[in-house]
Amino acid sequence: MTHKEALDILSGLGISARKRWGQNFLCDESVVKQIVEAARISPGSSVLEIGPGIGAVTDKLVQTAAQTLAIEIDPVLAGYLNDRFSDNETCRILNRDFLDVQPSTVIENIGMPGTVISNLPYNQMTPIIYKLIEDYPDADTMVFMVEEDACDRIFASPSTKSYGALSVITSAYGKKEKLFNVPSNCFYPSPHTNSTVVRFSGNEGQRALVPGYVNFVREAMSLRRKTLLNVMNSNPDRVMNSEKTKAFLENRGFQITARAETLTASDFAELFELLRTDI
Ligand code: SAM
Repeated sequence: MTHKEALDILSGLGISARKRWGQNFLCDESVVKQIVEAARISPGSSVLEIGPGIGAVTDKLVQTAAQTLAIEIDPVLAGYLNDRFSDNETCRILNRDFLDVQPSTVIENIGMPGTVISNLPYNQMTPIIYKLIEDYPDADTMVFMVEEDACDRIFASPSTKSYGALSVITSAYGKKEKLFNVPSNCFYPSPHTNSTVVRFSGNEGQRALVPGYVNFVREAMSLRRKTLLNVMNSNPDRVMNSEKTKAFLENRGFQITARAETLTASDFAELFELLRTDI
């Protein structure tokens, strides 16, 4: 798909790209090809695509013969894709806000997805990633296009400015890889920064997140200037946990005044495990 083809599709539909839905359409065939290759899709497997837009990636997914479900919030684009792929038995389009879609709906359509792929809308990136990691623990591979600063947050180390809940929660799923950068001029309209394609590969056997883990990490990281102990104490439900947290910090050689942002992803996982009987 070229910039001109993208523009022609939008003007043919009588619409323009919507900022509120983070619409920046990929217009570079070689990047689309690399993304689909990165997803390592085998024929007959199931692929969930979030935000297919005008179908640049969807088109290539259909060629892999995988069972594909693409969920698009924009009713005009979803209608366009439904017409375009109506003859294709392996591809279904759903006009929904992905954040409201229950896993059972996805499973009814394609079974549990083995692969998730998304050129993520920049303004919904975090909730979409959290929902995917929580709801689809059995997916082997997730390939995402994210903006540069989001990529920094995903790969940040403890005690750095970019480190936060996104860094910790994405580690819970498994291996994370930064694959390649995509310049902003590969999109129409061009986003304000360059993007990066990242891949998460699930950790066999330990992918399923214990319910409550995402909220626990988000809460601990939300009050960055407070000590971890204060965060635990400030939540009435967690008062009972402060002794356990204190013991955890001491055993690990942390100061008692340590902030959440100094803990690694595996520290978080262990602390949660220790506390969860009380949560
Ligand atoms: N995949 C297309 C591409 O690569 O050209 C479009 C990518 S564009 C960055 C993000 C897409 O996600 C848009 O089509 C937008 O309408 C859609 N979108 C935004 N929020 C969504 C949501 N909550 N659920 C489903 N789709 C969403």
